[in-house]
Amino acid sequence: MTHGAARGRLVVLAGPSGVGKSTVVNALRGEVSRLYFSVSATTRSPRPGEVDGRDYRFVSASDFDRMVEEGALLEWAEIHGGLHRSGTPAGPVEEHLAAGDSVLVEVDLTGARNIRACRPDALLVFLAPPSWDDLVRRLSGRGTDSPEVIERRLTTAREELAAADEFDVTVVNDDLNEVVRRLIPLLSGAPDGEARLSH
Ligand code: ADP
Repeated sequence: MTHGAARGRLVVLAGPSGVGKSTVVNALRGEVSRLYFSVSATTRSPRPGEVDGRDYRFVSASDFDRMVEEGALLEWAEIHGGLHRSGTPAGPVEEHLAAGDSVLVEVDLTGARNIRACRPDALLVFLAPPSWDDLVRRLSGRGTDSPEVIERRLTTAREELAAADEFDVTVVNDDLNEVVRRLIPLLSGAPDGEARLSH
């Protein structure tokens, strides 16, 4: 599919809330040269330790409306029944791909499907929990969500786990170092065939 050999690869990382996406993304920082970490815009409030402009762009609902109107988002979705909205700013993604950098986008299942629809060249990676009990433990252990929110996230998670086979690659988030080791070649632009053989 790629014509200009210099163009970078778009890699989408998705998986249920609490599986460890942010943890994995943070562990990847500094591990791959020429990798741009897409910064999602979100209307939710920062969690402790999250840095505006690095983890997310925290925006108001009206700023988000404007971005949607201007077509500035590659994908966006309402999260958990409209509790908040998050989306992927298109501009930086395009600029980095054109410059030959790989781009890593962290999204939920809806986001991954939307990116697949508009960017069929993207490599979709599903991050799966070692088991259902691990996912429940991680969501509760993170300590950021009320029991009601955790329940809602788990309901969504069942649907998300059922969609794993829509992805090009599934990586089980058991040992974090192993996950990073698996992802580095995918993000460094190893040929798809090679990448798909590695799971
Ligand atoms: P997500 O971004 O997918 O919602 P987080 O990165 O917030 O998930 O991780 C959820 C919880 O799981 C956090 O408390 C995190 O420390 C823990 N976690 C992430 N990866 C692992 C792992 N490989 N082993 C054990 N715990 C993990």
